[in-house]
Amino acid sequence: MSIVRIALDVPLSTLFDYTVAEGVVVAIGQRVIVPFGRRQMVGVVMECVATTDVSPERIKPVLQVLLDSAPLSAGLLDLLRFCSDYYRYPIGQTVLPALPARLRSDKPIISKPILSYRLSASGAALDLDSFPKRKVVQRRILAKLAEQPCNLAQLKALSTTAGAQLKTLEQQGWVESFSPAPSLSLDRTTSHSTRPSKNDGQVAGYPAKGGGEQIAQHTFDNAHILTSEQQLAVDSITQASGYACFLLHGITGSGKTEVYVHLMHHVLQRGGQVLLLVPEINLTPQLENYFRSRFPDVNLISLHSGLSEGERLHNWQQAQLGAAQIVLGTRLSVFAELPKLALIIVDEEHDSSFKQQDGLRYSARDVAIFRANQRGVPIVLGSATPSLESYHNAQSGRYQMLKLTGRALAAARLPAVRCININQTVMHHGISENLLREIGQRIVRREQSLIFINRRGYAPVLMCTGCGWLSGCKHCAGKMVLHLKDQRLRCHHCGYQVRVPHACPSCGNADLHPVGSGTQRVESVLQERFPDARILRVDRDSTRNKRAWQAMREQIHANEVDILVGTQMLAKGHDFPALTLVGVLNPDSALYSSDFRAAEKLFAQLVQVAGRAGRADKPGEVLIQTAFPEHPLFRALQTHDFEGWAASQLAERQMAGFPPFVYQAMLRAEGKQENEVYRYLNEARTAAVTLSRSLEIPGQVEIFGVVPAAMPRRANHIRAQLLIQSTTRKGLQQFLRAWQPLLDALTAQKLRCSLDIDPLEF
Ligand SMILES: [Zn+2]
Ligand SMILES: [Zn+2]
Repeated sequence: MSIVRIALDVPLSTLFDYTVAEGVVVAIGQRVIVPFGRRQMVGVVMECVATTDVSPERIKPVLQVLLDSAPLSAGLLDLLRFCSDYYRYPIGQTVLPALPARLRSDKPIISKPILSYRLSASGAALDLDSFPKRKVVQRRILAKLAEQPCNLAQLKALSTTAGAQLKTLEQQGWVESFSPAPSLSLDRTTSHSTRPSKNDGQVAGYPAKGGGEQIAQHTFDNAHILTSEQQLAVDSITQASGYACFLLHGITGSGKTEVYVHLMHHVLQRGGQVLLLVPEINLTPQLENYFRSRFPDVNLISLHSGLSEGERLHNWQQAQLGAAQIVLGTRLSVFAELPKLALIIVDEEHDSSFKQQDGLRYSARDVAIFRANQRGVPIVLGSATPSLESYHNAQSGRYQMLKLTGRALAAARLPAVRCININQTVMHHGISENLLREIGQRIVRREQSLIFINRRGYAPVLMCTGCGWLSGCKHCAGKMVLHLKDQRLRCHHCGYQVRVPHACPSCGNADLHPVGSGTQRVESVLQERFPDARILRVDRDSTRNKRAWQAMREQIHANEVDILVGTQMLAKGHDFPALTLVGVLNPDSALYSSDFRAAEKLFAQLVQVAGRAGRADKPGEVLIQTAFPEHPLFRALQTHDFEGWAASQLAERQMAGFPPFVYQAMLRAEGKQENEVYRYLNEARTAAVTLSRSLEIPGQVEIFGVVPAAMPRRANHIRAQLLIQSTTRKGLQQFLRAWQPLLDALTAQKLRCSLDIDPLEF
């Protein structure tokens, strides 16, 4: 009788032992179905062992071995084991959620082939020039399919309505679907494209380790000539043997993407796989298109939570089989199987969305670095505003710094940044006269302006002029935001909403005033001032519909918009060629925030949003409305001096004893009873203090007091936290490992508790 140890998706930090019937072969990494309590669950075999502590009458047998997908590799299991240990999170809840949903279900996988589409004979005979001009999307689809067969995901990248239009074309008999021959062979030259290959029947050979270098063929659009800085970056990275971490620090417009393209080309030629991590799901279709256009016959897939379960499984398996050559994904893709992984790129590495804020609170960037190290491959972290952690690591020599200081298009200049002192100028409902004048000039010149404000809604709070009542949320410590369009007060923390009251609930006064500005108010002020201007508001409210944002982007690109009003959604990586003016409203609160990362985040955000201005042949201008025009942050922005800014921030952090000079862990608890929350955290603290006296570990461990969270009450839950920090990562890890069993022994029923390693939010 053999025994297997299984990871199950349950909140216990242990594996579970089961027996395997005689004659049944089970491999490590295989998915199995086992009885658990009264249920049946899917688990993953982590170990095969000879003995168990479970008594023979209690141990149960594995019910079924799932053979419908290949076992997980030892490398991936090691990575997940590392994450479970490092982030102090149950192994089963680390392993199972890393898999596509279909692989977590006990139903057999019916892998529906992803259909491809191509022109039929009559479709190929169509004359596109005489095809009705107004059927824009149909024309685009036909043109695309004339180049190569595509699947639905690829066509959807052309337009939001591609799905429906494709159906019409199919009904007309111009387009036909087919199941592409599974591109699961290791032949790198066949991709999703089913063009008849001259190599039919040829057995592909993936170069074995140490074998001679074999050059794989793929089409590569190499129209761009690299600058000497770009070339140097490409050379340094391609010459790396084994693991090396590079920080590619390139100013906006310096052509980081071009460096990525050349690196990919290099890896693809050698038959390797590239993993490209991006922070934002909204950016993936755009990037997917771009890289497809550069590598038209390479099998590129994306992995993110926006895919259907079927698509995600298909793409994951393509990666697992080594058939997908470029894998483009958000943070979850760091756990994709990549047998031929040869390079990892983390774009916008400073972005906080690489950090998961619930469940396994991992940083995909940090896990990617561990993974590159584990696999012995280079990793590139790219950013115009690197995180201070990465920047510090590059300066201290742990990472290799590569700089791109020039704009790739010689003519393109960095935008001019100016501050407008809001205390010395005429303001119109939060917008200065100077900014309005500049916007007016852009409208005349048919150029676009972007007004950036990081608050959605009409106004952040409603106030009574009589008694000073403020629209607080009754479930949270925060304020209710005024949404004038639908006459609601809405809490952005818990979702609670009420109709806007006609009179003050406290004193009955009817004179209620909105205080401050959000995107809706800015939009209406601008509409009043520029009645004929086409204004587009881009925030979470206006883009709730899945495809809305992509439709808006198309509008912006077609220059059907004069003024864009939006939140940080607009700041990220979108290229709007007609945009020449960026106005920033109300950035000041971050300057004196209690969060020590607030200034770092603001700087990155402003550089990013400023980078939207004037990318093409038109110079851009950025106007920042502030009460502190002399603040060093704005000075550094004006002089485009990231180095100086980073140096001063790092000096401050070092003095104050903040990361990257210390390593932190945050224990959080929330619950309905305040005393329960504080009792738990105080007991945890007492245990930590006692432990720290008895434990011999490298460096010091500092245990702070139990304090209320930044949002001390949310959705009727009291929230508090306890910070632990150490001067060494190793010391902190050792401490946490010893502390965890003590935490597990505390009663915390009715409480939601979490331990966050390397927390980003305070
Ligand atoms: Zn009142
Ligand atoms: Zn609330």
